[in-house]
Amino acid sequence: MISPASDSGSSSDLHARAQRVIPGGVNSPVRAFHSVGGDPIYIESAQGSRIRSVDGREYIDCVCSWGPLILGHAEARVVAAVQRAAEGGTSYGAPTAGECELAERIVAIVPTAEKVRLVNSGTEATMSAVRLARGATGRDRIVKFEGCYHGHSDSFLIKAGSGAATFGQPSSPGVPASVAADTLSASYNDVDSVEAIFQSNGDTIAAVIVEPVAGNMGVVLPGEAFLQSLRRMTQEHGALLIFDEVITGFRVALGGAQALYAVAPDITTLGKVIGGGLPVGAYCASAALMDQMSPDGPVYQAGTLSGNPLAVAAGTATLRILQEEAPYARLGAMMDRLCGGLSASASAAAIPLTVHHVGSMAGLFFNAGPVRSYAEVAISDAGRYARFHAAMLQAGIYLAPSAFEAFFLSTAHTDEDIDAILAAASAAFAVL
Ligand SMILES: *Cc1c(COP(=O)(O)O)cnc(C)c1O
Repeated sequence: MISPASDSGSSSDLHARAQRVIPGGVNSPVRAFHSVGGDPIYIESAQGSRIRSVDGREYIDCVCSWGPLILGHAEARVVAAVQRAAEGGTSYGAPTAGECELAERIVAIVPTAEKVRLVNSGTEATMSAVRLARGATGRDRIVKFEGCYHGHSDSFLIKAGSGAATFGQPSSPGVPASVAADTLSASYNDVDSVEAIFQSNGDTIAAVIVEPVAGNMGVVLPGEAFLQSLRRMTQEHGALLIFDEVITGFRVALGGAQALYAVAPDITTLGKVIGGGLPVGAYCASAALMDQMSPDGPVYQAGTLSGNPLAVAAGTATLRILQEEAPYARLGAMMDRLCGGLSASASAAAIPLTVHHVGSMAGLFFNAGPVRSYAEVAISDAGRYARFHAAMLQAGIYLAPSAFEAFFLSTAHTDEDIDAILAAASAAFAVL
């Protein structure tokens, strides 16, 4: 009955097999290709900028595991660090020097971090950050922005209430209405929508949580003074500001968006790059705030595998390489050339395309723009993206199977990879 994972068959065979035992055949919904159509591609292995399918095809990977792989796949020093760690045991449930080193690096790199707690995913990081904010302020409500994603915990699976109501409603069955009611929803880049919430609920709000560059509705950049306004309003109303830097941390700059835009949040959540491809998340803040956490403080949070030696080894190796090699200027220049080329060939084909990028993350919208909020993202032509995605796959370029996800480059991508992506895109635009 159980066939070995090697000689596994084609992607479509595997997907049929997976669907019998895994809901939708996938362990995270966007992987299922529902929004672009077709079956997902099953991956056999990956190296550098290339990802290989079980069907024997090779693609230039522009997903990079949804952001973690800023050094590309199977970076030799990261792999070696994980192998060394595994030989010494995979988990102890007791403290190690490795955790200490990773924490020291995070504190050295992230401007507002004085102490940090490691967890196992971005979801855990944001969930814990909200608990800390509630514990520290004695307030229950949080404000989030429509189109920002903060993982799948109850408080964030929220859609805006109808009409003028800003109280959230569950966006998924299983989220209690009572939990959703404590999440208020504002519009990204719309300072007035936040001000209005503070005017009517100011003294009940524990925190505003924001992706300082939105990376889960495509890539939407913060407008002039948006982040500074959030900093000012939260301070005026005694609320905390949480930057969810799970994507932007170590990505848009070594010190993340808070370094790039020079705005200091109270609490920062990290994930993705911090684990170098293994499951890690973290939240960090001033020592005074972090000392509210158990065991020194009253706010509880724990984890059997938190600070796992393999994950810590991968994360530390990744951060060390980023600190030593500072690849950000080269990554940014590669992305500049890619995005400039995409805009030029779309306009040559008379296709409305808005392209945003910061550092090595980018978003493409089949939409004439401007794109500043979820409402403006949502009017993009998702059908055209699905056709673009299919044409690019055919040409050997692996893009996110959803119109509203970020596009990532790694240090393993080369100028030749950029040329190949541009050539494929230009051919695709001509027939879209
Ligand atoms: C991916 C992501 C998360 C959730 O992280 P997981 O590791 O998938 O739980 C949270 N916030 C942001 C901004 C993310 O991009």
